[in-house]
Amino acid sequence: MSAVPPPASVTRPALVPPCDLPQLLPGWVWLVGAGPGDPGLLTLLAAHGLMQADVVVYDALVDERILGLAPAGAELVYAGKRGGKPSAQQRAITESLIDFARQGKRVLRLKGGDPFVFGRGAEEAVDLTQAGIPFRVVPGITAGIGGLAYAGIPATARDVNTAVTFATGHSADGTVPCTLNWAALAASPVVVFYMAIKHLPQITSNLVAAGRSADTPAAAIAEATTPRQRVVQATLGTLHQAIAEAGLEPPAIVVIGDVVSLAPQMMPQNGG
Ligand code: SAH
Repeated sequence: MSAVPPPASVTRPALVPPCDLPQLLPGWVWLVGAGPGDPGLLTLLAAHGLMQADVVVYDALVDERILGLAPAGAELVYAGKRGGKPSAQQRAITESLIDFARQGKRVLRLKGGDPFVFGRGAEEAVDLTQAGIPFRVVPGITAGIGGLAYAGIPATARDVNTAVTFATGHSADGTVPCTLNWAALAASPVVVFYMAIKHLPQITSNLVAAGRSADTPAAAIAEATTPRQRVVQATLGTLHQAIAEAGLEPPAIVVIGDVVSLAPQMMPQNGG
């Protein structure tokens, strides 16, 4: 197969939706995933909703260039909790969504990655339903898939793994979740951990104690898909040390399993 580039004289139209996209209506809330960072990873529906919003309630980890898609007069409300800023309580966030919607505004709730992957989107969806507020969910690319891809690590690869497990290293009270089944995680061919940097020594030792080899390939990808993306590759036993030596800081995704070994064999040019 050969690809023939179009002649230079052919101009391409700007973003044209391929079909009729739904409108963000007054009094509605859209729970939208912003993807892991790179604005190019937004869905068409997310961009379309942003361009119509009266209010955007956004979390930490949402790129400013994405917020820039909102109309000039839109109200931008920060609801994140990173970087020492005061923690906006989940209840208060949901109440503000309900209030804005009852004022007849077009409300866009923007969350990093996918709203339903370790993002509390489910809680907000339940609360909106109970309040009788109409809403739509716009999925996004989750960091545990898109972030891996930008580092050249496929979540699955034929002949390597037929399953992948997503886990969080951090529970609501700030500790390693006590509900994690370490034997099951140790037996999963690939485990992708969100929010795992802080408790990585405990997580790795639990996995090794449950039977996972300390030699299993492992990687951490910080600020994935942004111009600041950094990747550290090591083994399960050495990852914590390698992260410390590299000075890698959260937000980062940790991936454990043989798919990590494929990264040196492919070199995607995905720089932000
Ligand atoms: N809903 C989000 C996850 C929110 S939890 C999603 O689907 O991606 C926040 C955690 O996600 C971070 O602690 C980190 O583990 C991961 N994360 C989010 N964005 C990331 C990024 N750009 N690079 C690396 N990890 C990221």
